[in-house]
Amino acid sequence: MSLFTTLVRRALPLVPKSVIWTVARRYVAGASLEDALARVRTVKADGFGSILDILGEGVGTREGAREAVAEYHRALEALPAVDEDATISVKPTHLGLLLDPDLCAELLGELCAAAASHGRKVRFEMEDAPTIDGTLEVFRRVRREHPNVGCVLQARLFRTAGDVDALLADGPGLDVRLVKGIYLEPPEIAWTEPADISRSYAELADRLLAGGATVGLATHDTALADTCIGLLEKHGRLARADAPAGGGAGDDPGYEFQLLMGVRLDEARRLRDDGHPVRIYVPYGKDWHAYTQRRLAHNPEIARHVTRAFFGLK
Ligand code: FAD
Repeated sequence: MSLFTTLVRRALPLVPKSVIWTVARRYVAGASLEDALARVRTVKADGFGSILDILGEGVGTREGAREAVAEYHRALEALPAVDEDATISVKPTHLGLLLDPDLCAELLGELCAAAASHGRKVRFEMEDAPTIDGTLEVFRRVRREHPNVGCVLQARLFRTAGDVDALLADGPGLDVRLVKGIYLEPPEIAWTEPADISRSYAELADRLLAGGATVGLATHDTALADTCIGLLEKHGRLARADAPAGGGAGDDPGYEFQLLMGVRLDEARRLRDDGHPVRIYVPYGKDWHAYTQRRLAHNPEIARHVTRAFFGLK
């Protein structure tokens, strides 16, 4: 990491929220549900599906977890007016995983039931390594009753191949979003070199496709996406070139590419134009500031944008 990047990262907490927002608005739909719905509408008009995420994690109270679910209910009620196909995504610790796994399972089940009544899927996300066992346990419990729930698996972790096998053994209908993993885990449990992480990603994608899982290929990495397209072909899973972008109901090829709002739109368009279903992750909520700080820490290029905005540069 360069000295410049280190300095920018250290200075981030001192940058006024208004300046952070000038950069954040590219990656976050806004603070309110209305902001998010407006973005979902634009995303749909561009030929992509949406994944709606309410920002928040590590809630400290049971009330906080219930409030998160109430906000998701509001979103589910409002979504039909803008997109019949959008899915929702939720962090385990936003639903109280660290407070009480039983409460978390109850709330996730409630959310899945509400989403199913609207014909939607729910993605239970993956956070840092200490939460993984708890997350998978809640996921497996909820999946028994709610087939519309999916999980996230991280390619950087050594354990993930075993997790894939265990989840496939639970029965058909597994739905996994495969990611490299945003949390920088120690070398005792994770690959740390980009090439190793990409190799692991491709192996896991192959394993999931061979096992018949539905796969959300969440990456902005063009070379890796191309490797995955080769794997989809190998497993006879490629979407028809003339299929509707964003995935059409009743014509589900059992995979899609997923990208974050504001990141590599060129790549999202390339995949869409080649006939692949593509979804864009649309985060919103009053916790946008903490989320943006994490994105900034991940990518020094964005930190540069903040610095320039701070000094009034275009
Ligand atoms: P990289 O090699 O990191 O990036 C490829 C290219 O995209 C590079 O040019 C890079 O600069 C650019 N890029 C990538 N990310 C960003 C960014 N944030 N801002 C600007 N440019 C960027 N991780 C989890 O651990 N748990 C989750 O539940 C989870 N959910 C996700 C959901 C979606 C839809 C996506 C797309 C990612 C999710 N992630 C999650 C993050 C993921 O683990 C990676 O950290 C992230 O996608 C970057 O990896 P990459 O595969 O895009 O490859």
